[in-house]
Formats: sequence, structure tokens, C-alpha cells
Amino acid sequence: MKKEDEKLKNLFFSTEQTETNKPRVDCPAPEELARFFDPEVSLDLKENIVDHLIRCPACQQEFELLRLAENLVTEIDAQLLKPKKSCWQKLRSLFPSAPFLKQAGITLAAIMVIFSLFYFLNLNGRKSQQVERNSREANDLMMSEEISQTPLVEISLKWQPVQEALFYQVEVFNHNMYLVWQSSPVTDTLIRLPKEISDNLKTNSHFFWQILIYCPGERIIESPVRKVKLGHQ
Ligand SMILES: [Zn+2]
Repeated sequence: MKKEDEKLKNLFFSTEQTETNKPRVDCPAPEELARFFDPEVSLDLKENIVDHLIRCPACQQEFELLRLAENLVTEIDAQLLKPKKSCWQKLRSLFPSAPFLKQAGITLAAIMVIFSLFYFLNLNGRKSQQVERNSREANDLMMSEEISQTPLVEISLKWQPVQEALFYQVEVFNHNMYLVWQSSPVTDTLIRLPKEISDNLKTNSHFFWQILIYCPGERIIESPVRKVKLGHQ
């Protein structure tokens, strides 16, 4: 098999795919998951859903799809409510038939092609690396956090060193499981969140974080997702 074919195969038959085929006991039905986006729904129910999500990769995928659909609907609603000119139309009305616009268009198209190619290769690279979930060393990993409330909110995240780790990367998710921050690769096992991230997180009752452990041989181990209560509602 050619190398390119191999890459494509990895892209479409990644490890996540096999996880979806696991028997899904106790999983909420899609319509239950969708209730998460209902503004009327109680915080308790939202928390139950989130508690399940952090344990269940299959439902995480489904949730991700629901969220994409939800975003799309919101976006369409917004567009319908206030129709606005696109950037391109604005430019056109500012500079009717300016010759440089054509040049700008070509340059823009070229940049977009380069970016999407780069994105594709990047995605491909990451997919072909093995991401290990529920590995023993990660499940036993001690993770903790220090949160000081006075005078300013400061959140520090700590974890136990993993012997074979080359470096770590920390991912922080808000109460809706949106990725809000990703650290640069670090060798330390203590990291302080940037002020604007802490400020943003403190407006909600909890957040989540996870460590990616980069090991030799392109192995990446994912720690469990840790839920942190912020001691207020
Ligand atoms: Zn599930």
C-alpha cells in the first residue's frame, strides 16, 4: 500500500471509530444529549450529561456533532435576523472595479489553498499518531489543582510526573466542554493558567482539564478528564 493510501486509511479508520462500536450501556439517547442545549433545562441535568460525557468517548463524538449542528442553527438564525454584506461586497462598494481587487482575490485564494493543505497534513499527522486512552499509567495519574480566590483568581494545575514523558500539554475546557486553552508543550508538571482564562472560567461553577502525555515513538497518552468545582454557582 502506498504511503498516501496508508495516511488516508488512518484518517478514516482511526481509533475513535472503533470506540464508537463498543456496546453503549447506560448512554443517554441522542434527544437526551440534545437537551443540553435547551436553555430551559436544569443545571442538574446538564451536570449529569457532562458527567457521562467525560467517561464516554462515543457520546463525546455524538455531542460534538450535536454542538456543530447547534452552532450552525444559531449562525443561520443570526444571519436571518440581521442580513449583512459580506466583506467582499463591502470592499466592492468601497472600490468599485478597482484592479487591485482581482489581484487580492487571487492572493487570497492562494493563501486559502495553502492553509487548507497545511491543515489537512497537520490533521493527518495527528491522526496517524496513536492516542491512547484509558491506559493504566494515565488512569493512576494524580492530578490536582490550586485555586486561590483572593485577591485575584489564580488557577494552577499540577500532576505527577510520568516516567517516559518527553513533554506534556494541558487542555482546559469550560463548563460546556469547549476547549478554551491549550498550553504549549511543557516539561514541568505544574502550570498556571493565564489570567484571562482563569477570569473567564471563574464565571461558571466548574471546568475540566486533561493532560496529553507525549512519549517516545510518537505515543500520546491521554489522561482522564478531570472535573474541577469552583465552589460557587
Ligand atoms: Zn455514552
